Amino acid sequence: RLEIRNLVRHFEGRAVVDDVSLRIQAGQVTCLLGPSGCGKSTTLRMIAGVEMQDSGEIYVDGKLICDTVFRVPPERREIGLMFQDFALFPHLSVAENVAFGLNGPREEKRARVEELLERVHLTRFIDGYPHQLSGGEQQRVALARALAPRPRIMLMDEPFSGLDNRLRDGVRDETLSLLKEEDTAVLLVTHEPEEAMRMADEIALMRGGKIVQQGAPYNVYTRPVDRAAVAFFSDTN
Ligand code: ATP
Ligand code: MG
Repeated sequence: RLEIRNLVRHFEGRAVVDDVSLRIQAGQVTCLLGPSGCGKSTTLRMIAGVEMQDSGEIYVDGKLICDTVFRVPPERREIGLMFQDFALFPHLSVAENVAFGLNGPREEKRARVEELLERVHLTRFIDGYPHQLSGGEQQRVALARALAPRPRIMLMDEPFSGLDNRLRDGVRDETLSLLKEEDTAVLLVTHEPEEAMRMADEIALMRGGKIVQQGAPYNVYTRPVDRAAVAFFSDTN
């Protein structure tokens, strides 16, 4: 569904993303896992279309959406985004936040908003405002907002890192089941091995701008490619 081929991006003469290729299937969560500064967010931003690659191509369902000459603008990529600092609009109600990216008749929008809020168990807050919600609840509204236009691809950059441990597991599980139900192809960025082990169908381990290992979580964990991978997995942060 989403395919990136040989993406490269330099900053100040340094290859921050260095020949990254990935394929992400519908209904699957691929985790881009790696230490701080290895190029995860830059990779995601190129796929979202808010950053240009120096070389490489991005395809959605086999159709080219971006190379170095041709470029579909971000808002027409049908890609959902959920970033850590993607805050809700404080002056809009919960319902208005979720409806924000939706077009079409009022009743249809309302029905979609109600459906999603029900699925994240926040129906009671439909006419509430973000400041009346806890961090975990806000995160679930943000998830509902990102899913509302039915993006077939979802990019998530450390979406749970603002949550405390108590809330995080619940929101992770809820997010995962919702994404699976909608058959979304997900690329989830994290620097926490534990999160990748919990959420991923496939892990792409990244270091210094390159993907150094890729496979099912169990295989990546039990058969690390090198000493650095062992150290990374055993480091409890
Ligand atoms: P983290 O886990 O800390 O979020 P990351 O893997 O997401 O790290 P990136 O944000 O992709 O890392 O950054 C990779 C490298 O590229 C870093 O060294 C960063 O300083 C550099 N970089 C990113 N954006 C720019 C920019 N606009 N200008 C210059 N350097 C940049
Ligand atoms: Mg980052």
